[in-house]
Amino acid sequence: MNSKQVSKHYHTVPIINASGTMTAFGASRICPEAVQAVADIADHFVSISELQAHASGVIAKATGGAGGFITSCSAAGVSLAVAACMTKGDLARVERLPDTTGMNNAVVMQVGHNVHYGANIEQAARIAGARIISVGQATEVNAYHLHGALRDNPDIVAALYVTSHHCVMEGMLSLAQFTQICHQYKVPVIADMASEYDLRVVKNPGVDIAIYSVHKFIGGTTGGIYAAKTTKLARDGFVQNRGIGRPMKIGKEGIAGAIAAIEAWGKRDHKKDSAAQEKIIQLWQQELAKIGGLVVSELPDWTGNPIMRLKVVVAPKQAGLHAWEITQRLASQHPRIFVRDQFLEQQYFVMDPCNLTFAEAKEVAARISKIVAEAKRKQNGRKLSWDNYKQGVAEGILAWPYKK
Ligand SMILES: *Cc1c(COP(=O)(O)O)cnc(C)c1O
Repeated sequence: MNSKQVSKHYHTVPIINASGTMTAFGASRICPEAVQAVADIADHFVSISELQAHASGVIAKATGGAGGFITSCSAAGVSLAVAACMTKGDLARVERLPDTTGMNNAVVMQVGHNVHYGANIEQAARIAGARIISVGQATEVNAYHLHGALRDNPDIVAALYVTSHHCVMEGMLSLAQFTQICHQYKVPVIADMASEYDLRVVKNPGVDIAIYSVHKFIGGTTGGIYAAKTTKLARDGFVQNRGIGRPMKIGKEGIAGAIAAIEAWGKRDHKKDSAAQEKIIQLWQQELAKIGGLVVSELPDWTGNPIMRLKVVVAPKQAGLHAWEITQRLASQHPRIFVRDQFLEQQYFVMDPCNLTFAEAKEVAARISKIVAEAKRKQNGRKLSWDNYKQGVAEGILAWPYKK
């Protein structure tokens, strides 16, 4: 089906995704290899444990770890990793979670890493029965904070590190330093790398468990990678399928899709992808520079992924609109256009080329131009305050299932 047919079939409004790999919009275009793998396995029976054992080898090869398995998503991967560190292969304990009677159950993390990626990460750990010990303040964590927590809390079973644009971007400890300190206390490090290109952090700096989303940059079916430094840590996570992992299960089609996507990712022509993205950024720069009240500049990825985005700063008086009014109008017209909205409060948004065709990118630029021109003509911008916008977004959560 083409995009129009899909939206007609499912009664959804078509989307042009200039926001990047967002789970809420279907994350990525699924690569043909993964689509084929799903079709190939659909009509057959397979031992899920054997299939996951094969996935373990594929994960080991891709990550440099000893092995791992495919989870239903990254959030599930965090829960399972925490559960693994608490239960350590004790099957009675696996089946007792989230009741942690008799187990150590504290997980240490930096305050600025306690993020919301559409759900909160702390809850992903608490699902397993863990409690969070936060170190430092929102904008400043020092090595002594982490040392103090690890020294004074013998019930810490794991340390959780998040690499993400969601995290506070200043004042945190690096993954390398965090890992090095935790290892002094023999506390394993779980790294949530959901949206990262670098699949090899179990190798360098040597974290114990790394979690990735299969449906983000890797371009696979919905799923997560749980990659562990040792076979024991991989197994301690995998056996959670007899416990809290059961309601987070992934089926044969998801495992097969993930394996195919991981293998395809290793062979992907990243230079070609970058060139296509660069062309889109250039187009946007040219087109948006013509719009009064917008100031554009290239923005390298926050966490060092090899991606360039476009930062669009809005001068509300000149543009006639607040940044959040532009994105709201983009998202409510047909097709919906989504850009990255994390920094709207600071009067800017960010455009991401990685999920777009060139034709779609052109449409995005044309739409922004039209929205700004119309607001200037009708003088109907700068009416919605940030507080009211935010309130509306919160109310929208409970508007589902959107009866017309
Ligand atoms: C997207 C994201 C998640 C959630 O990933 P899912 O695979 O959709 O569960 C978790 N952590 C970070 C840092 C993310 O970016």
